[in-house]
Amino acid sequence: MSDNSLRLVWIYPDLLSTYGDQGNALVVERRARQRGLDVQRVDVRSDQPIPTSGDIYLIGGGEDRPQRLAAERLVRDGGLERAVSNGAIVFSVCAGYQILGKEFVNDVGQRQEGLGLLDVVTVRGEGERCVGDVLADIDPRLGLPQLTGFENHQGVTHLGPTARPFARLSMGRGNGNGDGTEGAYNDTVFGTYMHGPVLARNPLVADLLLKLALDVNALPGLDDRWYEALRTERISAATQPA
Ligand code: GLN
Repeated sequence: MSDNSLRLVWIYPDLLSTYGDQGNALVVERRARQRGLDVQRVDVRSDQPIPTSGDIYLIGGGEDRPQRLAAERLVRDGGLERAVSNGAIVFSVCAGYQILGKEFVNDVGQRQEGLGLLDVVTVRGEGERCVGDVLADIDPRLGLPQLTGFENHQGVTHLGPTARPFARLSMGRGNGNGDGTEGAYNDTVFGTYMHGPVLARNPLVADLLLKLALDVNALPGLDDRWYEALRTERISAATQPA
């Protein structure tokens, strides 16, 4: 972070951007601009190197084959690990979350190396695919309201000792391992199974990323009426009896 500028990096939109996950980049970008920041957004295709000087990196979900290719390229590139060691913030969704872990099972049934930025391991769930609405309480340390989103994944994620659960489920499958957790995080790296796009449904999570990147405890408030209307509508639809 330098002066008033924020460098936002959207990783591999050509491989990882399911269910409108690119909306996450739009939301972070807009909320930063509304706070007067000069945002430089860089979309990095999978044949390009990952810049190491970004402040916030976003990575979305993907189908199984693009996920394998993206993980191979990111591991080979090494830029995202360097950015994190420089203090960058990373927010990842679904396939992106799995790739940030130590390992996942890929589309050809093999264990594939991830970036190891989160202490999680993902295996292929043997049961039904995890599909549907999710509601969860975000780790109280983060001081955020209820998490809302939807999930669509086969992977089941197990957390190691240095990954904290991002949220505790009240509806849905999340990490899918039966322990009631959804997503994982450490100091600067976050992973979730939530689509939505998740930062449109949960704008205060976007603000958390901005606060971490700016190293501030608070940001000027915004008029969030439209976000609130979306949240209310989605939460009530999720909790309607079938
Ligand atoms: N391919 C992964 C899985 O099914 C991730 C899916 C996704 O990103 N939506 O677990």
